[in-house]
Amino acid sequence: MTIKDNLQHIHHMINEIATQCERSPNLIKLLAVSKTKPVSLIEDAIQAGQTCFGENYVQEGVEKITHFQQHHPDLSLEWHFIGPLQSNKSKLVAQYFDWVQTIDRLKIATRLNEQRPSHLSPLNVLIQVNISDEESKSGIQPEDLTLLAQQIMALPHLKLRGLMAIPKAESDLDLQSIAFKKMYQLYQKLQQLNPDIDTLSMGMSDDMKAAIIAGTNMVRIGTAIFGARQYN
Ligand SMILES: *Cc1c(COP(=O)(O)O)cnc(C)c1O
Repeated sequence: MTIKDNLQHIHHMINEIATQCERSPNLIKLLAVSKTKPVSLIEDAIQAGQTCFGENYVQEGVEKITHFQQHHPDLSLEWHFIGPLQSNKSKLVAQYFDWVQTIDRLKIATRLNEQRPSHLSPLNVLIQVNISDEESKSGIQPEDLTLLAQQIMALPHLKLRGLMAIPKAESDLDLQSIAFKKMYQLYQKLQQLNPDIDTLSMGMSDDMKAAIIAGTNMVRIGTAIFGARQYN
């Protein structure tokens, strides 16, 4: 299976699942999660029409972004930072990325706002919600969401676009759906606060189906596109 085959297969699945639940497949964006994978594989994905990529590690992400800026300045790619973000690394993220999906405290939002270069458009951000209430996971508690959203909306160099979650892994579709449905409710509530909110980022290789049924409009897929990751 090539990267192109994998991408085609995922688009096919998205179409099928969305159609089954009477959702429009074109409204579900596919983010290709390329962490730990070399630029050669990202190039394969680009050849197959993919333009949005997610990276978890600042240094690795910046190297890849710089590579494409230098070697393929004609391509218009979109880079999402989806890993945990430490304050001391926020500057590079503000300078290089188009989106940050893991905002979970005002301090990091304030720093990104100050560090976003003024010649660039505002940095698109998502608030990460700790929807399964796991101590080990980052993300804010649902009850703290409205306050943080209002604080972020006041920052001129950030544009709040919505919410992101990584629920606890569950093997069964019904169990996976519980957290995703809660997220969809929070998303609808946030949309009432701000009509610019248009992004609900949830669903990965193993729980994409439940996320689509629950109303996601951005799935973040790594393994099913690029194969298993190897860490050393
Ligand atoms: C790694 C990662 C993904 C992709 O996970 P797969 O199971 O490989 O599809 C999605 N979102 C986040 C935040 C990740 O860290």
